[in-house]
Amino acid sequence: MKKAKKLVVGNWKMNPLDLDEAKNIAGTVKKSLKNIKKVETVVCPPFIYITSLSGIKSPNISLGAQDAFYESAGSFTGEVSFAQLPQFKVEYVILGHSERRKMGEGDDLINKKVRSVLVEGMSPILCVGENTRDQHGEYLNLVRSQVVGGLRDVPKKLIGDVVIAYEPVWAIGAKEAMRPREVHEMYIFIKKVLRELYGISADSVRVLYGGAVDVGNTEEIIRDGFVQGLLIGRESLKAKNFVEIIKIVDQI
Ligand code: PEP
Repeated sequence: MKKAKKLVVGNWKMNPLDLDEAKNIAGTVKKSLKNIKKVETVVCPPFIYITSLSGIKSPNISLGAQDAFYESAGSFTGEVSFAQLPQFKVEYVILGHSERRKMGEGDDLINKKVRSVLVEGMSPILCVGENTRDQHGEYLNLVRSQVVGGLRDVPKKLIGDVVIAYEPVWAIGAKEAMRPREVHEMYIFIKKVLRELYGISADSVRVLYGGAVDVGNTEEIIRDGFVQGLLIGRESLKAKNFVEIIKIVDQI
């Protein structure tokens, strides 16, 4: 049962610089994860490497993209469509990452992309998270509006295909991750919002944490944060560390 597994997603962003290195990382990850039982790993390389890496697909490993465009085909210079991705075995797409929100993507555009990914039979990984924390809990309203806005018009029958990645923006690329107890609070909050929207069907949505995850903090984030997986930036490019993180999650 795929959904029962935890999910560890590696977001390579605009790295590495050349295809040989991309193949090296992917090859090491694939070779090292043969005996993993309880974790599904998703590797999300830049588009330009996706065709070359589609062979990474195996029972434990899936391929993901980091974005695409919601129209399926046509005159959209420079874009790649979600409809073009499944032929290369892409099964997940990261959407609403804070780095894309910073470039101007808002909830309406992200929502169009979420629905488009679902229409193509893939799973959106919808990233949400506040830039800063305030004492009055405004950040909770922001996270709620990102979840509600991103999932607008997503039907109940498809909600189980959605993954939510909670990433406090201040922890992304930072030295330290969020404390596990706070991760747990946000996990409960997001599940509550999902349950308000979808009732019991929302229980099938996996909620991940992302932001400065490394080998040293993985166990406590999963164990005490109670999240169903991780979204990992920097450490996903260090094949050895990424594999180690997945092995730790598999042991929990
Ligand atoms: C990210 O960019 O989504 C992320 C979690 O990065 P890092 O793991 O490097 O903090």
